[in-house]
Amino acid sequence: LKNQLVKKSDYLWELPTHVKKGMKVPVQVYASKKILEEIGGDKSLEQLTNVAMLPGITKASIVMPDVHEGYGFPIGGIAATSWPDGGISPGGIGYDINCGVRLLASHLKREDLLRRGEDLAKALYAQVPSGVGKGGNILLSEKELDEVLRRGVQWALEKGYAVPEDIAKIESQGQLDNSDPQFVSEYAKRRGIDQLGTIGSGNHFVEVSYIDEIYDEEIAATFGLKLGRLTVLIHTGSRGLGHQVASDYMKVMVASMGKYGISVPDRELACVPFNSQEGQEYFKAMAAAANYAWCNRQVITWEIRNAWEEFFKGKNTQLDLVYDVAHNIAKVEDHVVNGEKKKLIVHRKGSTRSFGPGHPEVTDCYKQTGQPVIIPGSMGTASYVMAGTAHAMEESFGSTCHGAGRRMSRRAAQRSVNIHELEKELAGRNIFVRAGSRSGVSEEAPIAYKDIDEVIEVVHQAGIAKKVARLRPMAVIKG
Ligand code: 5GP
Ligand code: MN
Ligand code: MN
Repeated sequence: LKNQLVKKSDYLWELPTHVKKGMKVPVQVYASKKILEEIGGDKSLEQLTNVAMLPGITKASIVMPDVHEGYGFPIGGIAATSWPDGGISPGGIGYDINCGVRLLASHLKREDLLRRGEDLAKALYAQVPSGVGKGGNILLSEKELDEVLRRGVQWALEKGYAVPEDIAKIESQGQLDNSDPQFVSEYAKRRGIDQLGTIGSGNHFVEVSYIDEIYDEEIAATFGLKLGRLTVLIHTGSRGLGHQVASDYMKVMVASMGKYGISVPDRELACVPFNSQEGQEYFKAMAAAANYAWCNRQVITWEIRNAWEEFFKGKNTQLDLVYDVAHNIAKVEDHVVNGEKKKLIVHRKGSTRSFGPGHPEVTDCYKQTGQPVIIPGSMGTASYVMAGTAHAMEESFGSTCHGAGRRMSRRAAQRSVNIHELEKELAGRNIFVRAGSRSGVSEEAPIAYKDIDEVIEVVHQAGIAKKVARLRPMAVIKG
């Protein structure tokens, strides 16, 4: 398949529909030559051609330079299907519903943390519960959990876990109003009831970084980002609850697909029409899990704010929310396709919304700049803050990448990384890591990920997001 990619520009490649029987639209890959070299070692291209066969798929099966193989759908992809009867697929959203990233900006400088990075890592590790299946400190009643699922961050605001200014700086204000907790199974609720305010394991993290480069002064100022300042990244999602919602509905889709006359080349692509009963029930349950995830990142923000205040006592300890993006979600959105305005069901799986200036869904304070886009790299490399663009609306359904993307499987990374050497190397660069599981850290070693600078260059040059600032890690909490 790789040999059949047709070059559209320096940063965009296409697999035409004729490469495989059943494809309804082409595959589009955002990549440079260098990124392309790393694509194709896994099943991602194959998976993309499968996605191009989904019922109602519109324009193209699109993938970002952080692409790698996933369950059914690759990570880093966007699939937009026609509303109201195009397919909705849990596999196109991912098992961690509303996994996403939040960025906090501090008023402190890198120097304020010098020689104390390790202590801060310890302090945060003590405050923010992490680890596989690990519960937290917040005790919810079943009724309260339903409130979390229904109202997302509004619940957190009422309970004192948010400040009013936080709300506007969250994608969808941290609350999807189509949520209906009655379509979330009892088992999913049981898994989620004690996990609010926890980061989970593996790829999820809290990271203190500093801003080491500003690319766009004006936009950075609007985002509240200043050179040398400390920031905090939070990456996690809907924990066991979201995972269970995804598994539950994956089964529902597999069982009911046939009655709608749908067949897909891979079981993990199972889908039903969006407007079918099963489709609507999943969409409502997905929204509930998404609200849980936003609440989770909000409660973690509260935990971090507490730890920060304590740790930097006597200094300005305010932590302002810059933005919170979802990177595993489906939304109904308006887009222009071939000059025609269309309502679409946009699946983003490992892809970040990148709405540009003036878009009605972009919060007032960022209306002029476009929404902030937050792209983590790895614990040993840079991460980036970008801004959404009007061009993304034209090309990629208002979407861009979500990370560097894996280059190595977890297992390969475990085999090739010596954890002691890694920690030593990072500490030598003043990066301190605290993690519940050491094997978890080796899976997440910088070498396991693609070159973030190259990935960012691709989306910047392609015009689907704009570089604003670069972050460098100092203290990382891993699950
Ligand atoms: P995913 O949501 O696909 O698990 O991860 C998103 C991205 O986060 C990955 O593609 C990777 O680039 C990035 N990432 C993973 N671990 C870390 C970390 O410890 N720190 C930072 N800054 N980024 C990370
Ligand atoms: Mn996740
Ligand atoms: Mn994620």
